[in-house]
Amino acid sequence: DQQLLEVEGLKTYFYMEGGRVAKAVDGVDFTIKKGETLALVGESGSGKSITSLSIMRLIQSPPGKIVEGSIKLDGKDLLKLSDKEMRKVRGNDIGMIFQEPMTSLNPVFTIGNQISETLIKHKKMSKKEANRRAVDLLKLVGFPRAEQIVNEYPHQLSGGMRQRVMIAIAMSCDPKLLIADEPTTALDVTIQAQILDLMVEMKEKFESSILLITHDLGVVAEVADRVIVMYGGQIVEEASVYELFTNTKHPYTVGLLNSIPKLEGELERLESIPGTVPPAHRFPKGCRFAPRCKHAMEKCHESNPDLLETAPYHKVRCYLFEE
Ligand code: SF4
Ligand code: MG
Repeated sequence: DQQLLEVEGLKTYFYMEGGRVAKAVDGVDFTIKKGETLALVGESGSGKSITSLSIMRLIQSPPGKIVEGSIKLDGKDLLKLSDKEMRKVRGNDIGMIFQEPMTSLNPVFTIGNQISETLIKHKKMSKKEANRRAVDLLKLVGFPRAEQIVNEYPHQLSGGMRQRVMIAIAMSCDPKLLIADEPTTALDVTIQAQILDLMVEMKEKFESSILLITHDLGVVAEVADRVIVMYGGQIVEEASVYELFTNTKHPYTVGLLNSIPKLEGELERLESIPGTVPPAHRFPKGCRFAPRCKHAMEKCHESNPDLLETAPYHKVRCYLFEE
């Protein structure tokens, strides 16, 4: 089977005070092939991070709950596993990289300790073996003086170096899937490119797949094979990177593309999308993007369009593209 991850009909809701229900992820289907890098794109509040947290089963419950769907990793339904089995999957099959490595690294332990600790725990290595492997992993992620770095503490490293350490930790378990949530957002532009290159290099070396969560289509263009654009807890467009950039369909994707910074580091919104993502407990009745869409027609306010394949491997949820 070529599919590594198969997400079907995923719904993750949050039950709020006063009986309100926030449908943060509201019926999402997608797959990731072995070796593929898939980007999930959208503004904050679009549901992309909740989707990735659902895959890792890290949704805090209550108030959150995965109410429907299945998430299969290499054929195994993660939603059917016990908490203990799921911890094993997180340690062995899924590697994670987050935006701010300082919060995921323990400030009181050396870098070497933090890498060898995962190896001892998940790979059942001896202390000596794990220490040697930690040095190798640090060399692999670009520390030529790894023998010294193992003895340093997180605060002694720069943001980019800390993210390299996080990548080393993520790869230490030889994961099938690497989930990276805004991995470069906190970094300088020049460092961003290096970290993205490193992620792709590691993906290839370890023969894993990447689920990349980002709000930045520039990052997507750099590393992804395929893109899913989310809005209001649903997928609104899905295509290969080339197709998405050259044959953009959904008005929301058009708006996102026009908001890409044109010069390095300069946030020049050429055609910013007016308004904000509606809160997940108050989606409009029709198309969830309708209140912000300049093409909105009468029926857009009446009912929500389906996600349809309008060209080969290109899906879009918008009445403008229905026959
Ligand atoms: Fe805009 Fe209507 Fe398309 Fe929604 S369905 S994106 S409101 S044109
Ligand atoms: Mg997020």
